[in-house]
Amino acid sequence: MIVLAAGRGERFGGPLPKQYLPLLDRPLLWHTLSRLHRHPQISHIIPVIAPTGERLWQQIMQPLLTHLPKVSPAVIGGTERQHSVFNALRSLKLPENGWVGIHDGARPLVDVELLDRLFAARSRADAIIPTLPVSDTVKQVRADGAVIATLERAGIHRVQTPQLFRFKQILDAHQQAADSRFIGTDDASLLERLALPVVVVPGASYNIKITQPLDYMLAELLLQREEPCRYE
Ligand code: C5P
Repeated sequence: MIVLAAGRGERFGGPLPKQYLPLLDRPLLWHTLSRLHRHPQISHIIPVIAPTGERLWQQIMQPLLTHLPKVSPAVIGGTERQHSVFNALRSLKLPENGWVGIHDGARPLVDVELLDRLFAARSRADAIIPTLPVSDTVKQVRADGAVIATLERAGIHRVQTPQLFRFKQILDAHQQAADSRFIGTDDASLLERLALPVVVVPGASYNIKITQPLDYMLAELLLQREEPCRYE
């Protein structure tokens, strides 16, 4: 499982990149790594960190990793999330048909139940992503604030991570995206543009990405509970 933590967290603000901020008693990224670590079908966890973040990784995270032996040495990420993923994929030696997961380090509430749903779908697909149907009305809005249209909401999903892929398929899709300078907002979109099938499993409403200070507060509240999945 590749875990992305090479972002600068600019939208979040603050002196420390958000992945290293304390969430309850441990850095946010530690929660993500340790919760993935609990899953028996995850054999290796590959953190991806910013080129400028090596010292923080060594000072803040390294001492906490003694009880997380499945965490490999960190890979250095790139300017965009997609570059970070590509760097990590290129560092891996896996069978072509092997499975690889890609997860945002900024989603510390990932849990065994969500991972089980993803892993169970491997028998029916080669690319699996967790999604949730949108519940709000969705409008298309012009830059000046004028509403253009109300979009048909049925069939519109918002997308989470972890996303699961066959190693060669996602590596090739990243290579082709890099060759044509295409940047997608998630990894599955790189397969979609090649007309390769992607299927969804139900995501989890508690599996939030920490982007704004409010997400951080919510994550602390959810982590204080022993069973965050109760909030689905
Ligand atoms: O910026 P955003 O919240 O979409 O980032 C999603 C995840 O990707 C975060 O965990 C962030 O650390 C990671 N990321 C990365 N390399 C980048 C940009 C973001 O690993 N260049």
